[in-house]
Amino acid sequence: MSWLKRERTAIKPRAKPAPRSEVPEGLWTKCDGCGEALFQTVLEENLWTCPHCSHHFRVPARTYLGFLADPGSFAERFADLEAGDPLQFRDAKMKYPDRLRHAQRETGMKDAALTGVATVGGKPVSLTLMDFFFMGGSMGSVVGEKVARSIEVALAERRALIIVSATGGARMQEGILSLMQMAKTAALLARLQDERLPFLSILTDPSTAGVLASYASLGDVILAEPKALVGFAGARVIRQTIGEDLPEGFQRAEFVLEKGFVDRIVHRKQMRDEAARLLEFFWRSTRGFAPRGGVSPHTPNPELPAVDGRTGPDPTTTR
Ligand SMILES: [Zn+2]
Repeated sequence: MSWLKRERTAIKPRAKPAPRSEVPEGLWTKCDGCGEALFQTVLEENLWTCPHCSHHFRVPARTYLGFLADPGSFAERFADLEAGDPLQFRDAKMKYPDRLRHAQRETGMKDAALTGVATVGGKPVSLTLMDFFFMGGSMGSVVGEKVARSIEVALAERRALIIVSATGGARMQEGILSLMQMAKTAALLARLQDERLPFLSILTDPSTAGVLASYASLGDVILAEPKALVGFAGARVIRQTIGEDLPEGFQRAEFVLEKGFVDRIVHRKQMRDEAARLLEFFWRSTRGFAPRGGVSPHTPNPELPAVDGRTGPDPTTTR
């Protein structure tokens, strides 16, 4: 049993498709938000958001990459990392390696994250995008390692870090090994902060559990898509634990924004511009992602006024 089934190149609707006799298969998708039947090309034009109710559909990592990175700027890194099976885990249905192979066939990915370097608004970034369609975007040793290496690339090449989360949390099949990724990634993020390199965390639906309890909630700026599920334990578990009903909209992006947990809710269509705007701010305030007292390896425009009033470094003296 897979959690979600998906064609290699397109998203299948979670809602039941219309009867075969009415519409050709794959052309229309019923909106989970308002129930409207949406033409595939309309959805693509709207970056898989509903033009009527603004419902944000879940999309694979590679699709989201196209919404965020400057066109043609992405170079994938660490594409061949694959999970082992040190626990020799078998769940109720199948062995972990079989489950992995199944997910790999369904998604065309090796694991639940896509990692590489790109530019966003012309600024150098190191980024990891999680893929919910690969075993619920669960974080095992590979996802943790990819995030960790993403941070190391940001440190080594003085890039901003962007992580797009889409996950149900830690991967049960890897037990404690998946939980250890929380500490590993959080420790590396502290180094990123020491080096004053910015980290934008983008939360899409859902961003929960062990991922939210580690790197996803440690962004210098945390952006969320509208109505994204953002939380640690699930609502049902919390309700059973505390024995009380939970407020309306509990754990949705709008709720956690109100509580100060995320900084801004951004429509997918504005996400690239918003990320570029924030990177521009950090770029200026760090004089081109330069180390403290050092110069930027990215030869920023010397005309660039830094936020502290000084001008940027003279590019002729940087190398
Ligand atoms: Zn809708």
